[in-house]
Amino acid sequence: MPSVADARRRSRLRLVLIAAAILLGLGGIATALVAQHASRPAAAPHAQPVVAPGSPTARSAEAQAQALDRALDRARAAARSARRELTAAIAEATTTLGESEGKVADDAVRRKLHRALDAAADQRRADGVTLDELQEAAARRTATRDTLVEATQDVRTAVRAWQAERDRDAAESEAREDAEADAEAEALAEGWHDAESAARCSAPDQVWTPENGHLPDAALAAVPWSPGHRVRVDVLDGLVDLDAAFRDRFGRHLKLTSSYRTHAEQEALHDPGSDTAAPPGCSNHGTGLAVDVGGGVERFGSTEHEWLQANAEAFGWVHPPFAEPDGRNPEPWHWQSVLAPNSF
Ligand SMILES: [Zn+2]
Repeated sequence: MPSVADARRRSRLRLVLIAAAILLGLGGIATALVAQHASRPAAAPHAQPVVAPGSPTARSAEAQAQALDRALDRARAAARSARRELTAAIAEATTTLGESEGKVADDAVRRKLHRALDAAADQRRADGVTLDELQEAAARRTATRDTLVEATQDVRTAVRAWQAERDRDAAESEAREDAEADAEAEALAEGWHDAESAARCSAPDQVWTPENGHLPDAALAAVPWSPGHRVRVDVLDGLVDLDAAFRDRFGRHLKLTSSYRTHAEQEALHDPGSDTAAPPGCSNHGTGLAVDVGGGVERFGSTEHEWLQANAEAFGWVHPPFAEPDGRNPEPWHWQSVLAPNSF
């Protein structure tokens, strides 16, 4: 917008110029009158301008003209600068419009940008020549550029939102696929587990578990009077108490001949042609809940065996049905915790 000061300056300049023109005009008329009526050419005053160069009036007019020139220069520069900025904004908007095709949830923002671009194209016409025209051109371009930049930003924001939504969907479907794959793997493992159990642990009193023979050391405890043997840590106290009672009765410790067995140890013991040692993964020895006892206990009907039959359960240990004389695999030496799955 032209400032009040500019307007005042222009108004003053106009007055000065008019005054000068009147004075010069009067001088011309005077010169003509003199030429018509005077016989002495030497007296003609045409060589004497009314507004003398260098006079205060002329200096003021010149200063005003220079000020106007400077104002015009500034306005032209501002209009050019606004044109450059508008051109850059148009380029940016055009690129954004192209790149955002099909990448916004609602195309309204793109249509708005398209309209802003159309309007902007009209604003690149000539700058005009007067101060007012130049200043108006600069202001108009700046406003158009602002509208364009805002519409461009809106489209970019919409594209980012669209992309984020897509990323979210992708992550969700990936998570869904992972979950499905996990469920499938679990079902497979379950099936494998069942198949493994059926194939290996043929006896109904045997149940295969993947942990069997793979217990961590922390889950096991060494038997104090027979440190080479280990049982599950939570059944040790009962075994220690049973041993103390046995010692009270017989004056010696329970003689352990086997206890926890690793998968590899069970594998080494197992003979597919014999029932003596269960297949790996099927034996209670792999759970840390079973011991084999010698020292007389390994014979049905012995005093030691009978004593255990009468007293062991009070300490949490039993002789399981499958190992009884009429069981699937008669084993007088095999004793196990009441926590073992086939204890009763
Ligand atoms: Zn056993």
